[in-house]
Amino acid sequence: MKKHNFNAGPCVLPRQAVESAIEAIRDFDGTGIGLLEISHRTPGWERIMAETEQLWRELLNIPEEYAVFFVGGGASTQFFQVPANLLKGKAAYLQTGVWAKKAAKEAKYYGDVEIVASSEDKNYTYIPKEYTIPTDADYFHITTNNTIYGTELHEDIDCPITLVADMSSDIMSRPVDVKKYGMIYGGAQKNVGPAGVTFVIIRKDLLGSSERKLQSMVDYATHYPDEARNRSMYNTPPVFPIFVMHETLKWVKELGGLEVMYKMNKEKAELLYNEIDRNSMFVGTAVKEDRSLMNVCFVMAPGKEDLQDEFFNFAKERGMVGIKGHRSVGGFRASLYNACPKESVEALVACMQEFENLHK
Ligand SMILES: *Cc1c(COP(=O)(O)O)cnc(C)c1O
Repeated sequence: MKKHNFNAGPCVLPRQAVESAIEAIRDFDGTGIGLLEISHRTPGWERIMAETEQLWRELLNIPEEYAVFFVGGGASTQFFQVPANLLKGKAAYLQTGVWAKKAAKEAKYYGDVEIVASSEDKNYTYIPKEYTIPTDADYFHITTNNTIYGTELHEDIDCPITLVADMSSDIMSRPVDVKKYGMIYGGAQKNVGPAGVTFVIIRKDLLGSSERKLQSMVDYATHYPDEARNRSMYNTPPVFPIFVMHETLKWVKELGGLEVMYKMNKEKAELLYNEIDRNSMFVGTAVKEDRSLMNVCFVMAPGKEDLQDEFFNFAKERGMVGIKGHRSVGGFRASLYNACPKESVEALVACMQEFENLHK
């Protein structure tokens, strides 16, 4: 049976990226040696690194005055690396979910943290809009897509201070006005590759701007030295996830880039949200205007709660994988990242319709 992968991360990747990774493990770049066995100093690898940075720059239209590099440790490491590098006195955080809350928690090790607004009162089902960004803070931290709750900030906000964004789960899903941000970071495993690599995009004047003494690995400046061939190469880079990221971004480029991704993502999300709103068995959990294009969260409609396990099994029998909601929301979550084909969304919609008919 064909499987439809709605996992929230790690998650579905473009088939062509997976196939090309399998081939590279056997024989990297015609060298007769596998990707997992090469030196990261072979010229073929240095080319992949340079191309990967270039693909990021092209696809996101990243200006020259920004550095782009890749490190380990996941987005969770950035939760403390951001304040280590950028927090001098006070930082401001928008608390739109547990990832945002965890980011703020780590910042407290380095200085004062002001939570400018939080939607915790309603289990993060919306994005707070009424707040003031303190101009005396060193930066304002946001989470653009809240993977667990299915809410998303759909615009690049105007910010009077340095804007820092965790874009782990919506990076490359739409065009972004990078100039509005001081820094953008995220784990690769939601939309740009497998787990094991983290992307950092940061305005160059912020590199080495810390007044704190930092360990080399923590200091952003270490990872983007002047000499291009040493970028993201201070220590051994995670070659496998970077390779898959390279292939994934090549696929995005071949399809036409982020405008095309955005259009496809809007179509897929609309298809599923329309069905949730139409179907008498289900209701969405997030406030409509803040609904995420990447993670679609829904629960059984009032009075139908007893049917939750039945629908879960019903969907499973029809090939749906990874639709169980996060435990803090319950119900269901279908993640529709770039590589999730429209056919999978259509299959899920058909399954929801069939289930409704069965219970009429
Ligand atoms: C998954 C996720 C994280 C955590 O990423 P790791 O790479 O596992 O540390 C952080 N923020 C958001 C928005 C996420 O979706």
